[in-house]
Amino acid sequence: MLQDKEHQCVCKDCIEVLKDKAKPIINRKERIHKHLANCEHFWTKYGKEAEDILGNCDVEETSLAKHICCQRHM
Ligand SMILES: [Zn+2]
Repeated sequence: MLQDKEHQCVCKDCIEVLKDKAKPIINRKERIHKHLANCEHFWTKYGKEAEDILGNCDVEETSLAKHICCQRHM
């Protein structure tokens, strides 16, 4: 198992646009939520749907997980 100091992940919507310049975020629900809430790439891609995704994440945690990539990019 890889052991990072902190478990990090990367926003998939940032990766699509920024590639390897996408900034890692800490793999915690609240951090991911905060990132997505402020992520212009996420909002650009999903528009109104983005509100639903963020609104549903308390109910369904996996709805956020779909938007992050937990593997380190090569
Ligand atoms: Zn992002």
